[in-house]
Amino acid sequence: MEQIVRKTDNVRSSILLIYTGGTIGMKNDERTGALVPFDFSGIYEEFPALRRLPVDISVHTMPKLIDSSNVRPSDWAAIAEVIRDNYSRYDGFVVLHGTDTMSYTASALSFMLENLAKPVIFTGSQIPIGVLRTDGRENLITAIEVAGARVDGRPLVPEVALLFHSRLCRGNRTRKSSAEELDAFSSPNYPPLAEVGVKIAYNTAAIAHVEPVDEPLRIATMMSEGVAIIKLFPGIGEYTLRAILSVEGLRGVVLETYGAGNAPTADWFLRLMRETVDRGVLVLNVTQCDNGSVEMQLYETGQRLRSAGVLSAFDMTTEAAITKLMYVLGQNLSHEENLELLKKPLRGEFTLSGLV
Ligand code: ASP
Repeated sequence: MEQIVRKTDNVRSSILLIYTGGTIGMKNDERTGALVPFDFSGIYEEFPALRRLPVDISVHTMPKLIDSSNVRPSDWAAIAEVIRDNYSRYDGFVVLHGTDTMSYTASALSFMLENLAKPVIFTGSQIPIGVLRTDGRENLITAIEVAGARVDGRPLVPEVALLFHSRLCRGNRTRKSSAEELDAFSSPNYPPLAEVGVKIAYNTAAIAHVEPVDEPLRIATMMSEGVAIIKLFPGIGEYTLRAILSVEGLRGVVLETYGAGNAPTADWFLRLMRETVDRGVLVLNVTQCDNGSVEMQLYETGQRLRSAGVLSAFDMTTEAAITKLMYVLGQNLSHEENLELLKKPLRGEFTLSGLV
């Protein structure tokens, strides 16, 4: 892997820190000891070390701070709007977010922010920022440094990325993989964009290459809610599956299958899949495995799914697959156009391999 400690431009950058809630924003109330939200507008007083970075930081606190388990597509739209409204004024953005659903939000934003050419770096922490042993301080400082890094006047990471512990990863390739470890996020099928050690070593070959374009940033805030995730398990019942698939308004399904995209070959199962696809529902096949890609041509069990009209999601995470479905279906395009968008990577969310 080509890892380069880039000599970044020695100019000041301006960063907008968007605070949405989550553990990173908590500190102990000095009187009661209870966890209360931290006021990021006092960021320089709390972390004087930040003054040493060649970065000017402004803070935007979302009107309602949330535990990220409560995040909804309307919250994603609100973050996208803040970025759009401030896009020309800042060189980069850092989004402070709860860890629980951070990969969903980062994936969603990667699709919603069209023509993005500046860094949008998500981060959070496992331990509140006001607790002595917090991991939030390092995550915050590194995320700010990454968001402000430029080479030859251009942002080094012009995409939606997630910085946690010692790695910067493409946002729509990540998932929260540990509820306890400080190294809580993984990018199972795509190399890190940077490794954070004594220096920040950027893997420039893995970072999105954005040509300077005249196209302004556009945000797509309509996300379809007519979607579902179904995880197969041995013994899944026909009535249960039929009930889920016949829900009114269902337009897209992420089907979590076994191994390289395999599913039962029972007649009732394949008939049901075929009926669902024929009704115009888009079914995306994602593997339940921690890493690797769907390859439906490998086994008969996968081939049958493919002939039922199920689409491969290749090595996409479930988080990216569901948010991509929501985004694509939110555009009100024709069925053919939807298929076209699902079959190609839009923001580097999967690696194309084998047969579609
Ligand atoms: N429940 C919290 C959240 O996701 C956990 C965290 O921030 O780490 O908002």
